[in-house]
Amino acid sequence: MIWNIRNKKDATLKTIFRLIRDNREMTRSSLSDAMKIKPSTLSRAVDQLLQAGFIKEKGQAGSTGGRRPTLYEIEKNAGYMVGIDISRTYCSIVLVNLTNEVIEETSYPMDTSQSPRQVIDRLITGIHEFLQKHDIKQDQFLGIGIGTVGPINRETGYLLYPPHFPVPGWGDFSISQQFEDAFHVPVFMENGANTAAWAEFHRGGLNREFRNIAYTHIGIGIRCGIISEGRLVQGNNQEDAFGHTVVDIDGNPCSCGNYGCLETYCSIPSVVNAIKREIKKGRDSLLAELKPNIDNLTWEDVMKGLTRRDPLCDEVIQNSALYFGTGLANLINALHPEVVILGGPLVQYSRTFFEQTRRTAEKKIYRAPGYDVTFRIASLEKRSIALGAAILVLDHYLYR
Ligand SMILES: [Zn+2]
Repeated sequence: MIWNIRNKKDATLKTIFRLIRDNREMTRSSLSDAMKIKPSTLSRAVDQLLQAGFIKEKGQAGSTGGRRPTLYEIEKNAGYMVGIDISRTYCSIVLVNLTNEVIEETSYPMDTSQSPRQVIDRLITGIHEFLQKHDIKQDQFLGIGIGTVGPINRETGYLLYPPHFPVPGWGDFSISQQFEDAFHVPVFMENGANTAAWAEFHRGGLNREFRNIAYTHIGIGIRCGIISEGRLVQGNNQEDAFGHTVVDIDGNPCSCGNYGCLETYCSIPSVVNAIKREIKKGRDSLLAELKPNIDNLTWEDVMKGLTRRDPLCDEVIQNSALYFGTGLANLINALHPEVVILGGPLVQYSRTFFEQTRRTAEKKIYRAPGYDVTFRIASLEKRSIALGAAILVLDHYLYR
């Protein structure tokens, strides 16, 4: 019988596969040291994986005297996963192999001309095209991961009260079901912030250095994903909750009904509105010259202002980062991550935002002896949500 990676029962096979994948290459003796199992059990399992074509020989390791031991690596094209990102303004697909390499990717804009079902149909066609182009057979296709804006119901594959989509109707049907019906493979849904965090952890190389990570994405709103002891924290399906932590009890009114929420100071709409407000007060800005009617100011205009170092844009971004650094310090004090990753347009287009956020958070963190935290800019950016969703598919086979 050829072992199939879909078999969720065999813990030894799964552990060997995981160890070889995470360490890139291993010998039988390094596997034996890591797993502490009988050599005969290990040998049988390695042979089974070789026979099934999920691992292969990679040559000989350096000799420590005697015969040089054989190295094993993952047969990376023995299986494939698809990751999908459904965000509010675009959706994208990535095709990924067993070592999390991106084989192909594509992205589609979403606007008011497409219904949710039309968007799903476009994604289904796109996946069919990928499978055909790379000649991927049904038994090599391990499943589909969907990273999307929360809140979600993972079990049913529904979006719950989907906010800010260009057209309504995204909560009316099970998104996962559509893909299950089209491809007959397992489909998993997860918050986009969680999948992005997972991609940064695995493909951004953080898993070799850290176990505890906080990932934040600052865009239309603030999204947050947490990795604790190397595992994704999935208990909370409200990835936007961090954006509604209060940083000023007498502050700006927020869409949630509260006052002084973090996202009323640090998000694309809040930055655009703050610049509009200052220009209307009479402040000078390149953007005032660019936009005769300042009510039409957009984030694209603000990006131009940031690139040209407009002093007003710079000031608003600095102020926004003071609030974000404060909110982040609260998050850090509660969770003690080893590294905080900042992603999203505000960070991408403004080094000032990142640096000011870092300085502010560092000043406000309560430092227990021996505790330290590092701040990093997200390394994968726009592809991270879909990539992390694809990586999660394999985790379902390996960890459950
Ligand atoms: Zn709020």
